[in-house]
Amino acid sequence: MKILVASVLILVGSCATLRHSEKIENLKNSIQFKDKAVIYKYLSSIEIKQLKSHVEEVSSDKYEGRMTGETGHNQVCNYLREYYKSQSIEAPESHANYYQFVPKEVLPEGLNNSQNVIAYIKGAEFPEEYVFITAHSDHEGIINGEIYNGADDNGSGTAAVLEMAEAFKLASEDGYHPKRSIVFLHVTAEEVGLHGSRYYANNPIFPLENTISVLNIDMIGRVDEPHKENENYIYIIGSDRLSTELHFIAQKANQEFTNLELDYTFNEKNDVNNYYYRSDHYNFASKGIPVIFFFNGEHDDYTKPTDTADKINYPLLAKRTKLIMSTAWYLANSPNRLYPEII
Ligand SMILES: [Zn+2]
Repeated sequence: MKILVASVLILVGSCATLRHSEKIENLKNSIQFKDKAVIYKYLSSIEIKQLKSHVEEVSSDKYEGRMTGETGHNQVCNYLREYYKSQSIEAPESHANYYQFVPKEVLPEGLNNSQNVIAYIKGAEFPEEYVFITAHSDHEGIINGEIYNGADDNGSGTAAVLEMAEAFKLASEDGYHPKRSIVFLHVTAEEVGLHGSRYYANNPIFPLENTISVLNIDMIGRVDEPHKENENYIYIIGSDRLSTELHFIAQKANQEFTNLELDYTFNEKNDVNNYYYRSDHYNFASKGIPVIFFFNGEHDDYTKPTDTADKINYPLLAKRTKLIMSTAWYLANSPNRLYPEII
């Protein structure tokens, strides 16, 4: 009897395992990029030269390190807004000047009022569903007389968002409108405590229940020490926490278009760095929205005045931007809305 019970248990156990692995296989197989040639075409509009020009602008001395609420940061926000206007990429109807006012009352004491910058391309089929691409626009200002340029943190992410916006707009003008709306959100006050993204998540412009995913970029232009010998990588954090499908979409996008090494070291739940909680995506994840945090890891110039534009690896920045764009393309164009479930 005992032996029989044991063998029945083994059978049940293996069936359950099989069912799970079958589910995973089915899910993976369901993720198919159609129109690959079309996607390639618009990925190739991500240009090293333009990324460089945006990083150099945003991290230049004239913006004095982009401290939240200071003139330099306000001027950078204006640069972003003018860029969207120049590309005819719209502001939300409710925020026609591209700014979401962030009052100083929600910021650490001593800081001035600030703003998130938001633009979007309206979806053609499901305009009420939103894919977000986010990056913080602020940095650390001037400390002890030294300007903190923050070229990687987060000039790189800011430039990537602008380039993707331009590429999606170009596709849209050629008739390849995204099915879902794609939102480009530059949040303020990240460095002083993720306040801009928290303010947005508590005061959303587009309904959170229809915000299907948030792809957040914070530092993607450099190489960290463990990857000195192989710089063809990016850290992926959080992709499997709220949606197994999202995790595999990023992998499939990478397999089809970029072939980077996807490093999940910092995705481990017991990772001592706690990066999952340390950038703006977390304020969306905590509301149940599936997120991915794209990150290059820390380097010698991290949070130092030496994080300058000349040290950015621009071809690598372009490649990483293409991974994020192809992931966003899928999320915006897949027949079914992303399934927020862990399998
Ligand atoms: Zn940052």
